[in-house]
Amino acid sequence: MSSTTTTTTQIAIEGSPGTKQPKQTTEITHTSNSPAGLSACGTGGYPIPGIPKFNDPFKKRQWQLEHMAGAFRVFARKGYTEGSAGHISVRDPVDPNTFWINPLGVHFGMLKASDMVHVNEEGQVIGGNKVAVNAAGFMSRSAIHKARPDINAACHAHSPAGKAWSTFGRPVEILNQDSCIFVGIQRVYNTFGGVVLEKEEGERLAETLGQDGRVAILQNHGLLTAGSTVDEAAYLLTSLERTCEVQLMVESTGIPKIIVGDKEAEYTAKVNADPETLYYEFQPDFEYEIWKSRGELSKGI
Ligand SMILES: [Zn+2]
Repeated sequence: MSSTTTTTTQIAIEGSPGTKQPKQTTEITHTSNSPAGLSACGTGGYPIPGIPKFNDPFKKRQWQLEHMAGAFRVFARKGYTEGSAGHISVRDPVDPNTFWINPLGVHFGMLKASDMVHVNEEGQVIGGNKVAVNAAGFMSRSAIHKARPDINAACHAHSPAGKAWSTFGRPVEILNQDSCIFVGIQRVYNTFGGVVLEKEEGERLAETLGQDGRVAILQNHGLLTAGSTVDEAAYLLTSLERTCEVQLMVESTGIPKIIVGDKEAEYTAKVNADPETLYYEFQPDFEYEIWKSRGELSKGI
């Protein structure tokens, strides 16, 4: 749920000291698809930047690859790496039947935009950085992207708390305000079929997500999230991992829990779980990685 906000601000400009320049007034117009949960009225009267719009799909491709590299670095910083496991896939805006994925066996914390690999629906490398990719991971996501045209990005990680919680084969409970974003979009994939190498496994995962699912707890495995932008999918993964961690902490106390009420949880989800808000929530982590990499992360294809 987002709203387009246009605000006009009048600014009085004083003449330079010592000159006879009169006081002038100028107008600045701000237009933004502000997230519903962070509308202009809640941000001091100024709108916040929404998901950028591109006329040139090649420019959008570069923007997506930078955000993909940033998401990997966030995952690395938060400790989600385990050998060569984990991946992110993003639909190509130039040819939407093709995808960009990460090279196999490169640490998430080292990835930059120019490291990403362009593959077709069959997992064959067709461009970008021409190196080996994770066929198992790609086949699981290819089926999801095929079944859900609204999903442009998918993230998967063997993050510690997600992996621990996945052994219960249960959804996370709505224990606090932050976890309300999972209301109605959470699924559990109860079939552990070994390493996901088969196309059929990917199709079963797509069936589990259905038409509305955006996050899945993969039993005995880890977490999978999806979104209309890589930022949305990445934020959902970081938030779900934290939610799993918090629920494990809560469960370890043995003290009876108070769950958020259904009505309150649904209302909070409506305000906080739209694609614009979830995109915005990821920007502090993304911008931190841009700042930390001193421009290396954005290196183009
Ligand atoms: Zn995995």
